[in-house]
Amino acid sequence: MAFNKRIKIKVLLEKDHSGQKATVMGWVRTKRNNKNVAFIALNDGSSITNFQIVADPNLISDDILKRATTGACLKIEGTIVASQGSGQQTELNAEHIEVLGDADPEKYPLQPKKHSLEFLREIAHLRIRTNTFGAVFRVRHALAYAVHKYFNDKGFFYIHTPIITASDAEGAGETFKVTTLDLKNPPLTERGNIDFSQDFFERETNLTVSGQLEGELAAMGLAEIYTFGPTFRAENSNTTRHLAEFWMIEPEMAFYDAEDNQNLAEDFLKYVISYALENCKEDLEFLDKRAAEEENAKKADQRSEMGLLERLRFVVENEFQRLTYTEAIEILRNSNHNKKKKFQYLVENWGVDLQSEHERYLVEKHFKKPVILTDYPKDIKAFYMRQNEDGKTVAAMDILFPGIGEIVGGSQREERLELLTSRMEEMGIPAEEMWWYLDTRRFGSTPHAGFGLGFERLVQFVTGMGNIRDVIAFPRTPGHAEF
Ligand code: ATP
Ligand code: MN
Repeated sequence: MAFNKRIKIKVLLEKDHSGQKATVMGWVRTKRNNKNVAFIALNDGSSITNFQIVADPNLISDDILKRATTGACLKIEGTIVASQGSGQQTELNAEHIEVLGDADPEKYPLQPKKHSLEFLREIAHLRIRTNTFGAVFRVRHALAYAVHKYFNDKGFFYIHTPIITASDAEGAGETFKVTTLDLKNPPLTERGNIDFSQDFFERETNLTVSGQLEGELAAMGLAEIYTFGPTFRAENSNTTRHLAEFWMIEPEMAFYDAEDNQNLAEDFLKYVISYALENCKEDLEFLDKRAAEEENAKKADQRSEMGLLERLRFVVENEFQRLTYTEAIEILRNSNHNKKKKFQYLVENWGVDLQSEHERYLVEKHFKKPVILTDYPKDIKAFYMRQNEDGKTVAAMDILFPGIGEIVGGSQREERLELLTSRMEEMGIPAEEMWWYLDTRRFGSTPHAGFGLGFERLVQFVTGMGNIRDVIAFPRTPGHAEF
């Protein structure tokens, strides 16, 4: 006989089911006794809202009620009735309770008190049962769904690019090596280097840092494609915005120029954020309050001016500010912040890479809205970006968000074979290894463009979580690969 006859709490909350028999299953958040009756707040993951179970000791044995402690998993059968209390419309009068799994209160680490996010990271296997992480992962799911819906509705095709690759030509970050060689005793070449021709793939391979190059190949046949997959960077940067394993969304479009690319990125970001606003109301209201509490604990000058929901609506309703790198450098150089030496890295010369303090100054202090920065110096950008007429800049775009900094990096790609190969030569990228990439420029080349959105940075922005480790279930960062 099938076990699952449960009704989800989310469904029970949608309308008044008074009078109906129901079976619910979930985990005890809290239990309190009042006038001989036990009230159990039950959560089953479907909603941030708990459902109230009323257990009358005349119907439910004392032994069962004792075991219904915080964290225990219960199956409850009973009747839905209008609630006497003010906290909820309806509740479940328990007629039968089965303890599916006990949670010894002496040992269960999650108690109904406030735990720090740092502590919860150490018990990432259990933190999913908290209000905060339940909300974060429901919102994360909604955003992932919205990403696919957006592109599907626009006629883009989802391409699965390889996770194991032989190219690190992009130079987007340090790679993790993939090998089956015996690390203690690897075969060596005559010169004493590791002989990768004896490795599994008969060459040196690594985990992908980006699906872009393969994405471009697909766009040269399907015209509009996107990838959405895991991405790996072995950067030893212990920041609140970097993971060693993260998920990236990379649309790539034939027949798009730089401006088409910017328009798509802005429309796409607004769409997925609106989707979350419409479909994750309760979770976002909870996260809005959580973020406000966190803000209140900060010093007045470090608090953000807008609350979470206000900020999300603001981004959806306002046009992003578009400006060139050159214009941004002027603004930064002449800012009081720079003159008073408040930047750790002072902005003096055209050509320097922007630090996240500069990006955040532009977004949070100067424009107070998302910024699309374009036309960067070619020397600080990748080889595949399209060279501009001025000979100095490329058709790059970075999108900068409040509280996050860079959320999107993209460009129009160099479609002219001559210019691409000479740039590769300048940058020391071996053309022989990239023969397949260059073939797209040899045969039927066309203007095309694309960008990469770090999915966790998007989830951070939408949930207001300050640390990227708190928006992915099991974060991988330097020194951390537990769970
Ligand atoms: P940053 O300068 O912030 O390190 P990047 O310029 O190296 O990022 P890109 O190579 O442009 O990043 O990658 C595209 C997008 O992927 C970035 O805009 C960002 O949203 C995301 N991203 C890059 N590196 C990471 C990381 N280590 N963890 C999470 N997201 C990342
Ligand atoms: Mn970038």
